[in-house]
Amino acid sequence: MIDLHCHSTISDGALLPTEVVQLAAQNGCTMLALTDHDHTGGLADARTEAMRHNIRFINGVEISTTWRGRSIHIVGLDFDEHDANLQNLLANVRHGRIERAQQIGDKLAKKGIFGAFDGAMGLATNPEMISRTHFADWLVQNGHARNKQNAFSKYLGDGKCAAVKHEWVDLGDAVRAIIGARGLAIIAHPMRYDLSATARRNLFDEFVALGGHAMEVHSGSCQLNDRLNYALAAERHGLLASVGSDFHRLGDYSGGVLGACPELPPICKPVWDYFRSS
Ligand code: AMP
Ligand code: MN
Ligand code: MN
Ligand code: MN
Repeated sequence: MIDLHCHSTISDGALLPTEVVQLAAQNGCTMLALTDHDHTGGLADARTEAMRHNIRFINGVEISTTWRGRSIHIVGLDFDEHDANLQNLLANVRHGRIERAQQIGDKLAKKGIFGAFDGAMGLATNPEMISRTHFADWLVQNGHARNKQNAFSKYLGDGKCAAVKHEWVDLGDAVRAIIGARGLAIIAHPMRYDLSATARRNLFDEFVALGGHAMEVHSGSCQLNDRLNYALAAERHGLLASVGSDFHRLGDYSGGVLGACPELPPICKPVWDYFRSS
């Protein structure tokens, strides 16, 4: 029972790092990575809790990167969390989230929705990690959207009225920083990006050339069909395969069951065969 992608209150998840581990344990998890956005602050608590539950714990992080003007998420696993260069890069990515959130708030105000910035900040446990998730929650709570998905399709999604273009770190810099910290670099949820077949191949080729290791063949609530497609894509590009629930909170249908991802198709080479930490 393996899950190598999930979130806590350190970024935009609803559970504390310890609570994430407890829930994963209840679900039968035996190997877990906590992968908060751009932040490793939850790893120490999660690791201690995982030891109590006999779960093999793997250091993780999900880095927000920009590739050819698009936002692509890169998961780092099994790295040295004290690596100064990696921590520097993460601090750089975090910088700018508050300004971006102010801009999102201003755009919503132009649509007659006032108080969104303060409201979303109030929901973020860690203000420097304010994300669109917090805006979505606030919009739902205040009757501006039916649910989280609706908040993204009405206001927050790419190209929508409150979307703010943001420069994250360069994808290559993120991959190099993960490798420099002796970790493995993984393309997160490839099935979620709105890319043409050619752009997708280019992304995978470039990622391989940078020394990237794997892609998520299973993410969240994706279907068998996605797993089979991305198992083939991974094989074609010589990439290892990873799995992750992308869990944020209970009742969020886009996330899978925390701690218990489906099995990889047999042609996959699992990324966990290359972990150093035990
Ligand atoms: P940000 O890092 O602020 O751009 O926020 C991105 C986060 O918003 C992702 O990590 C997801 O948790 C969430 N998200 C992005 N797009 C959607 C969507 N269409 N529906 C629901 N949640 C989304
Ligand atoms: Mn998120
Ligand atoms: Mn992501
Ligand atoms: Mn995620």
